[in-house]
Amino acid sequence: MLVSGGLDSATLLALARAGGVECHAISFDYGQRHRCELTAAQRVAAKGGAASHKVVSIDLSSIGGSALTDASIPVPVSASQGIPVTYVPARNTVFLAIALGWAEVLEATQIHIGVNAVDYSGYPDCRPAYIAAFETLANLATKAGVEGTAIKIEAPLIEWTKAEIIRRGTQLGVDYGLTVSCYNPRPDAAACGRCDACRIRAEGFRQAGVPDPTHYIRVPSAAQ
Ligand code: ZN
Repeated sequence: MLVSGGLDSATLLALARAGGVECHAISFDYGQRHRCELTAAQRVAAKGGAASHKVVSIDLSSIGGSALTDASIPVPVSASQGIPVTYVPARNTVFLAIALGWAEVLEATQIHIGVNAVDYSGYPDCRPAYIAAFETLANLATKAGVEGTAIKIEAPLIEWTKAEIIRRGTQLGVDYGLTVSCYNPRPDAAACGRCDACRIRAEGFRQAGVPDPTHYIRVPSAAQ
């Protein structure tokens, strides 16, 4: 299970655990400016009942090309047209490829990823067609696949709204105070309240009717 430390992955873990699935969590130290999410990922994996948690370092800042991995590109504070500059080139493909390798080592038959096409519709690697294509690749690319152990990519949140994710997670007892969404947090992990991730998160809690436990430097304006 890919666990970023955000609210989607915290919910993903709770859903799988509620279904009786043994979960091994993987997070990536990829040169992201919001590196404090890794501390959140550790908390989420531990409290969420993951059987193990691994942090893999892969420095995508050496490629750059995103506001999240290149310090010279500012994190936008308003919604943009098209694919946002917070898109990290091929990130989910890189992450899923490494998760696929580990899954094969673990003899796991499922890889769970908390992508969401509704709120992040600008990201090409969060779409259902992408997940289906990666699953095809996973079964072509691996010894497990060739020898008949099918690997499934599970993305149960892909069609959910942020409010639906928060409502379901709250029912399952997820403590969203452990999670970090902000792309541009302060060193003490306080959320900026201005980036897309902060605005979408705050709006999700508002629509869900659930109190938002996030410590924002400034309260986000409504998401667009
Ligand atoms: Zn933010």
